[in-house]
Amino acid sequence: MKELWIVAEQNRGVIAASFYEILSKAKAVYASAQEQPCFAAVVLAGDEMPAAELKSSGVDKIYLASEPMLADYNPALYTAVLTAMAETYRPEILLVAASAQGSEVAPGVSARLKTGLAAHCTELKLDEQEQLHMIAPAFGGKLMGEYIIPTCRPVMASIKPGVFESVPQTAKDAELVCFDASDIVAAEAGIELVSSEEVVETELPIEKAEVLVCAGLGSAVTGNFEKVKTFAKKLGASFCYTRPIADLGYMPNEHAMVGTSGKTVKPKLYIGFGVSGAAQHVCGMKDSGMIININSDEEADSFRISNYKVVSDCGAVLDELLKQI
Ligand SMILES: Cc1cc2nc3c(=O)[nH]c(=O)nc-3n(C[C@H](O)[C@H](O)[C@H](O)COP(=O)(O)OP(=O)(O)OC[C@H]3O[C@@H](n4cnc5c(N)ncnc54)[C@H](O)[C@@H]3O)c2cc1C
Repeated sequence: MKELWIVAEQNRGVIAASFYEILSKAKAVYASAQEQPCFAAVVLAGDEMPAAELKSSGVDKIYLASEPMLADYNPALYTAVLTAMAETYRPEILLVAASAQGSEVAPGVSARLKTGLAAHCTELKLDEQEQLHMIAPAFGGKLMGEYIIPTCRPVMASIKPGVFESVPQTAKDAELVCFDASDIVAAEAGIELVSSEEVVETELPIEKAEVLVCAGLGSAVTGNFEKVKTFAKKLGASFCYTRPIADLGYMPNEHAMVGTSGKTVKPKLYIGFGVSGAAQHVCGMKDSGMIININSDEEADSFRISNYKVVSDCGAVLDELLKQI
């Protein structure tokens, strides 16, 4: 039976939400297929292995590589071990999250396996021959590319977290297959983790926010960036931003950046200040319920996807909003 593998990223024994999202989508895609694959979770872990959680996740099989050195993410080790597991058990399809970890490991694995990888996919579907089609933004988000990998195996895809809904699955008595990675770990011991620090999320992740306020570069260059943040706080909304806000140092990282290279969000309400509406940003927020944009340029592309457009200097609008709340 052909196997469809999904890498279950774990951190201190806790499985990432992306695993359940990808599993739900994969099961839905194959729901009416003639040939059902064996759905398998692949876990690289230390001693803390979420076996019970995975067993009840709805997969048929669990492939586990457990070594103390695999407890924390290590790009060289994870790439080598995942490649060796795929070479040994030969899955038909290998899906990973397009997370920071998955985006680093997947290209290395696909190159070593000499197979194709469709990166940052936002849709999966089967054709009449039950061949997997992987859909992802292409040319900087200007169009959607549809990919097939006709001959090389495994077919590999990285899936953007937050795009697919996680649906509870019927628990199965999954078979556990243990992979001995000790030789690989010993051979790849060149990179050593010196220290790690856990980042504790104090705010609601933007993927889960119902109301999002977004700062675009137009708000920052006109000296209104802090006002956007204050407005978000007063409104009880989550705060996000476009790529230039992170690139130009207005924010220290890309943690709450929205778009092709950032996160995909679907709030009930999105309010953008000084956002031009570049395809790479729109791709990450176009499915928001209600979209309001404030921009001084009447022709701004962000207005094309807006339910309400406010043609105005965002500073003036923010001053008024802050007065009103
Ligand atoms: C491979 C690749 C990946 C990328 N990934 C992402 C991504 O994930 N996310 C992302 O956001 N971008 C991404 N980008 C960058 C993207 O192409 C755009 O450059 C970016 O989204 C523009 O951000 P912005 O709208 O904040 O700034 P700008 O495009 O500079 O727009 C600023 C806007 O502010 C308006 N403005 C100016 N003054 C005022 C004022 N006083 N009041 C109101 N409005 C005002 C202007 O009219 C303008 O529309 C990517 C680019 C590439 C090439």
